[in-house]
Amino acid sequence: MKLSGSCHCQAVRFTVESSSPCPYMRCYCSICRKTAGGGGYAINLGADRRTLQIDGAENLSVYRARLDDGARSSGERNFCRHCGSALWLYDPGWPDLVHPHASAIDTPLPVPPDRVHIMLASKAGWVEPELRAGDGSFDGYPDESLAQWHERRGLSTSE
Ligand SMILES: [Zn+2]
Ligand SMILES: [Zn+2]
Repeated sequence: MKLSGSCHCQAVRFTVESSSPCPYMRCYCSICRKTAGGGGYAINLGADRRTLQIDGAENLSVYRARLDDGARSSGERNFCRHCGSALWLYDPGWPDLVHPHASAIDTPLPVPPDRVHIMLASKAGWVEPELRAGDGSFDGYPDESLAQWHERRGLSTSE
């Protein structure tokens, strides 16, 4: 499905085709929760980078997080340099993919039937994950990709 998104000040607007639009995966890692997760986690979607159209790209800035070993993450976190809204993650190691933050999407998104909570070993102490029956939970990375999760539930949307 086609997703439309924007930052809060509207200096950056974008559209992208997504076959993995269900906002089910909550990442509690320190990067996500600090840069994009006011409630203790952030939610990324899966989309096709070849279809990404950006209006106001000159207003973007990119953050590459410093990792525990001192190296920079290869992930490029794109945000609006005027209002600070986190917009999407792009990693040159997966050039066909882009991961918009669900929080930046204006198109109504499907409500996920269950959720997956990841990087719980990194969560802030005050955050109590809302774990429901059927939810997955992982101290680190999950056991399936965004695309696999959608395919297994028959929720992949064609482009
Ligand atoms: Zn903005
Ligand atoms: Zn994360």
